[in-house]
Parts: sequence; structure tokens; C-alpha cells
Amino acid sequence: MMPFTYRRAETVEDALALARVPGAKIIAGGTTLLDLMKEQVETPTQLIDLNHVPGIADVTLEGRDLRIGALVRNSDLAADAEVVRGWPLIAQALLAGASPQLRNMATVGGNLLQRTRCPYFRNVAFACNKRTPGAGCSALTGHHRGHAVLGTSDACIATHPSDMAVAMIAYDGDVRVIGAGGHRDIPLASFHLAPGATPDRETVLQPGELIVSVRIAASPIGSRASYLKVRDRASYEFALASAGVVLVIENDRITHARIGLGGVATVPWRAHAAEAALISKPATRAVFESAAQIAFAEARPRTDNAYKLELGRRTLVRALEHAREAV
Ligand code: SF4
Repeated sequence: MMPFTYRRAETVEDALALARVPGAKIIAGGTTLLDLMKEQVETPTQLIDLNHVPGIADVTLEGRDLRIGALVRNSDLAADAEVVRGWPLIAQALLAGASPQLRNMATVGGNLLQRTRCPYFRNVAFACNKRTPGAGCSALTGHHRGHAVLGTSDACIATHPSDMAVAMIAYDGDVRVIGAGGHRDIPLASFHLAPGATPDRETVLQPGELIVSVRIAASPIGSRASYLKVRDRASYEFALASAGVVLVIENDRITHARIGLGGVATVPWRAHAAEAALISKPATRAVFESAAQIAFAEARPRTDNAYKLELGRRTLVRALEHAREAV
């Protein structure tokens, strides 16, 4: 690990000022950053510890919406009674991720910003456009069984690793960030960037900006939700395919449908066309299978990950069936 200095921020303003130092990085739970520092993928000269900043570690109701502070731990959010009652998809997704120890440390802000598990990104011996722009992508010609089929580019095919973010995009909401010019709210759906020609840019955050909270809109009355994650082993593993689904069914017709997909895309993926295909239809398996075909119509599979089309479709169909049966 490269040498670095440590500074403890006492307020948000303090953190913003300290983070202006070139080479500085914010640390909260550290569950991604410390691993990357040990691998010398990240080499900050200064760490700004956010853990003692007041006012950004609470879960509160804002009218019927939910406001989640950036420092809220994943385990606390998953166990929050309001979240379990009103936003069950988020609780289910969090509990499907990582291990209890990691969930106790990992924060909501850090979860949104966690970086890909692409093994070539995490090993500095290999070329990686995300780590070093213009260097090339080792995954394109190497092993890419776990990589993305949606939202890819010729520069990068890495999957986004977050379960929580997949669940969050199945609701409406925004990410509140603060920078030198004050705060702004960024819709969750446009917070992450597909790789395109610049895979090193993963979000719309500007240099010096800091996430302070996330707002999740109230879920529609009568909604049913289900998060399904398929992986190589039952725990402490990232998704090969996942689906987070929110449905409202009235008089045997689907009147509201939201679908987030994970493990198959470069960003938390909202399946807009598949959602539209469900509206006004009966909640039958045939309708779900048709929507799943649409969800993967634009997929670009490669040699090792072509199986993700069928796996992703089946995962979505089963998540829709689980949501239909949920109470
Ligand atoms: Fe790097 Fe993306 Fe290629 Fe992985 S898939 S090696 S993260 S450019």
C-alpha cells in the first residue's frame, strides 16, 4: 500500500474543503476503497474520514418519501422498519449482498459508488480502460463470464456490482450531492454512466462533490415487490443476474411496473421497454416471458457470457412471479 495521510472531517463543509487537496479521497465504510488501495488500483495521498460528520447517518420520512443519509450502514437500512414496510425491495437487495460483517461497515453513499469486480480492473498487471484511459480492455479477449451484456461498449464490459442500486432504481428518487456551489439532486436513473468511450467516468458526480443523502419516493399504494439474485454460491457473492421488480395489479391487470436488472449490465439497469410491455396486461407467465424477451432484446453477448441472456430472462420472469404472489 502506498503511504497516505489521514484527516478526520467534523462537518460536511470540512470534508469538502479537505477533499479539494489533489489526490484526496473520501472514506466512509472503506469496504471497497481499502481493498483497492492494497492492490494499488487506488493510490490516494490523503484520506478524508467522513464517519464523524453529523447529520448524514439517519433514515427519516419526508412526507411519504424516504430520506437516507449517506452514512447509513447497509445493515441498519435493511433492518429499518419503515424500509421493510414501504420499500421492501431495498431491504431484500441489501440482505442479498455481501456478508453481515461487510453490511455492518458499508454505507449507502459508498454502495452507490462501489467499483466493478472485473478482475482485470483489480489487477494492475492487466490493461484496463477504466483504470487507465486508453490502455485497452483485457476482458474483451480474456475471461468475461461474469461481465455485462447490456450497456456495454467496445471500451468496457464490466458489470456494476451493487444490489442496492438495482432495487433503488425500481422506485423513483434522487441522490443529493453537495459541492462548492451548494447542493443538487440527481435522479437515481441518471446518476450512473454507461462506459461508452470513457469507462473511467462512472457517475455524474463532479470533482469535489459529495453524496449527502438519497431520497426514495413512496411506492405506489398496493405495490408488490421482489428482488431475486442468482449467483455461483448462496452468500457473499456478486450477481450473475438479478432482478428487482415492483408491480401494482388491479382487477387482474398490471397498472404499474418497475424493473431493475443487475449482474447483466454496466450500470444499475432500468428495463423501460419491458415495463411498458407489462402495462394493462394480465399478470401471466406468458406476459412475463414476453417482457423478459424485450428486456434483453438489445443485449450484446460475447463468447463466455452469452448464457446471461437466458439466465437474465429466467431471473426476471421468476422475480415477476414472486412479486405477483407477494402480499
Ligand atoms: Fe477494465 Fe472494463 Fe475492460 Fe474490465 S471490462 S478490463 S473494467 S475496461
